[in-house]
Amino acid sequence: MQYYSTNKNTPPVSLKEAVVKGLAADNGLFMPERIEKFESLFFNSIHKLSFQEIAFEVAKKFFGEDIEEAKLEEIVFDTLQFDCPLVKVKENIYSLELFHGPTLAFKDVGARFMARLLNHFLGEKEKQVNVLVATSGDTGSAVANGFLGVEGIHVYVLYPKGKVSKIQESQFTTLGKNITALEIDGTFDDCQHLVKTAFLDEELNKKLVLTSANSINVARFLPQAFYYFNAYARLKEIGALEAKELVVSVPSGNFGNLTAGLFAQEMGLPVKQFIAANNENDIVYQYLKTGEYNPRSSVETIANAMDVGAPSNFARILDLYNHSYRTIAEKIIGFRYSDEQIREIVQQVYRRNGYLCDPHGACGFQSLDDYLQENQTGVFLETAHPAKFTETIEQIIGTGNVALPDKLAAFMKGKRKVSFLYKKYSDFKKFLLYNRNF
Ligand SMILES: *Cc1c(COP(=O)(O)O)cnc(C)c1O
Repeated sequence: MQYYSTNKNTPPVSLKEAVVKGLAADNGLFMPERIEKFESLFFNSIHKLSFQEIAFEVAKKFFGEDIEEAKLEEIVFDTLQFDCPLVKVKENIYSLELFHGPTLAFKDVGARFMARLLNHFLGEKEKQVNVLVATSGDTGSAVANGFLGVEGIHVYVLYPKGKVSKIQESQFTTLGKNITALEIDGTFDDCQHLVKTAFLDEELNKKLVLTSANSINVARFLPQAFYYFNAYARLKEIGALEAKELVVSVPSGNFGNLTAGLFAQEMGLPVKQFIAANNENDIVYQYLKTGEYNPRSSVETIANAMDVGAPSNFARILDLYNHSYRTIAEKIIGFRYSDEQIREIVQQVYRRNGYLCDPHGACGFQSLDDYLQENQTGVFLETAHPAKFTETIEQIIGTGNVALPDKLAAFMKGKRKVSFLYKKYSDFKKFLLYNRNF
């Protein structure tokens, strides 16, 4: 299958090229030329399949032309060595827990898939590939762990100094091997800007093979569609969709996750309505209300993985619906919550329903609680384990109430190794070329 650029100023490329390049030559995001639909029959019996089996069926629709079936099956099953279970929070509202992977956040799925796909595409003779990733928290850990020890690939994680929680930071600063952590004196948007500038730097790209692993990359982006199908299957399995419409709420920052859900819907998944749950970085929320899209600097919140002021994947949403504001505002409803509200939600859901949300999932839950109608069943993506935000959560519900999972405790014990850089592009470039500070 060919992949075209959302900017449409450069010829389409193969899957391999889209994955290795990350960003199109004209600075656009890659889109598959076709989105294949499932037969309605598939949905009648989908609940008999496991998460991994469902994911394989979805993967074939995207990658079946480019990767032989047995190899693709291996990549999918090797990526998904964990489940994404459905948990009932209250009447009609379910949490789809996407945090059972190695770094306890949903980004493990895309990152692990991408590492395996890239590894498959890279012949032995090719030069080392350098993965550049800007993170506001969870992307860095998921990508670093997804690629840890994968041959022929070096990962550079750029993160804003002082704006990432200790636990998040430990998950990409303690790994060593082929993972380099770069602490940037700036915001997440500054980190993202450095990465984007590097991709467009011709001189640098002659010397190094660079690729992205943000949700920009199709290999990370597309697998995120897997778990929407699983949500549907698991709800159907327990009879929660009988005579009910499905509403899906997605805590959103860069909008990769939500956009993958829209793809799933285009593939025939019966979702009645999507909700984009924002924190105070409500650029898309404002767009949905007014039709005006005004990216701006991000502000810090306690749901920091959604602190994004210029959501990259918005370009994909525009492209998917031919830039029609009317269609987009129909497909997606926006909600936004302040830090104060998020604290209140975490506490109330914990007290009343005995379910502990992380600050991101809390926005997802509340939007359903605010929106759902009688004939609807809602599921929100619980994008991270609450223990990833222990400091925040314990301030809300009291200390000693959040158990630290073994996986996280192990990271916290590791030795931190970080390089510091100012947000000047020339410094970053020199670092990439010579791998040391200046
Ligand atoms: C990355 C992330 C999000 C936002 O996902 P996008 O695809 O960037 O919209 C939400 N919650 C958590 C915990 C995340 O790590």
